[in-house]
Amino acid sequence: MPELPEVETVRRTLNQLITGKTISRVSVNLPRILQKPDDPPLFAAMLEGRTFRSVERRGKFLRLVLDELVLVSHLRMEGRYGLYNEDDPTEIHTHVIFHFTDGTELRYKDVRQFGTMHLFFPGEELQAPPLNKLGLEPLEEGFTLETFRRALGKRPTKIKPLLLNQEVIVGLGNIYVDEALHTAGIHPETPANELKPKEQELLHSAIVETLSAAVEAGGSSIKSYVNGQGEMGLFQHSLKAYGRTGEPCLNCATLIEKSVVGGRGTHICPKCQRLPRSRRSAQGSTTVKQNRNAVKRRLDGSSD
Ligand SMILES: [Zn+2]
Repeated sequence: MPELPEVETVRRTLNQLITGKTISRVSVNLPRILQKPDDPPLFAAMLEGRTFRSVERRGKFLRLVLDELVLVSHLRMEGRYGLYNEDDPTEIHTHVIFHFTDGTELRYKDVRQFGTMHLFFPGEELQAPPLNKLGLEPLEEGFTLETFRRALGKRPTKIKPLLLNQEVIVGLGNIYVDEALHTAGIHPETPANELKPKEQELLHSAIVETLSAAVEAGGSSIKSYVNGQGEMGLFQHSLKAYGRTGEPCLNCATLIEKSVVGGRGTHICPKCQRLPRSRRSAQGSTTVKQNRNAVKRRLDGSSD
């Protein structure tokens, strides 16, 4: 699933590719991608004659800004955009095509068909689902240590599921949460309200550093992620915890362990990321067993 850095890479690429292009016609081959309006002829009619002015982002959603309209697009698992010439053969799983007046086309492909598109009048998109409940934007100036502390609040929730909650902070998925917690040296099951001020500070900067580095590298390509110009991301080469079960921690050489936290496969260095002393009693043998199982699963070729 693309995470914030991947979506940011798509945003930057699309912004270069389609800004200034005017839509002559829209073809919809799979109506279920359209959420608002969900009527393909109406969706097409609203867009025809409009020009893309910029491509922006809110969390993992793309905001494609046109004259007096905003198209909110979520790629979900496998959604891809690509710019083609109108006579290029149309590949399978191409569900929506924006035909431009200059003979090029923006095509939306989605093997899994989970992606969504919503059309709004400018400003309305932030007041309505799916964007209205989104939390802090970690790569914007407003993401200060203070706003982060306020978002963590007094919640007793384990820190990992809290960071995955898009209503608290947007754009962090399983990969970058594991990476940020490893960088900050925080155990994913630490209750958020038990983080010390210093740990909050380390986590805040780890989130910004991890995401910024991934954006610089063009996003990660754990599965089959490709950006808008067909380039594979490079960030998977610098992952420190995620997907490294059984490999040595880059800080201390202890083997990275895999367990399950909040239902998600979780990768930690048991030495760099210790649970607070008060929480440790229930741990122990199960972690070793889980890790052994994780190593076995890895040898079997399955993954999270
Ligand atoms: Zn370590």
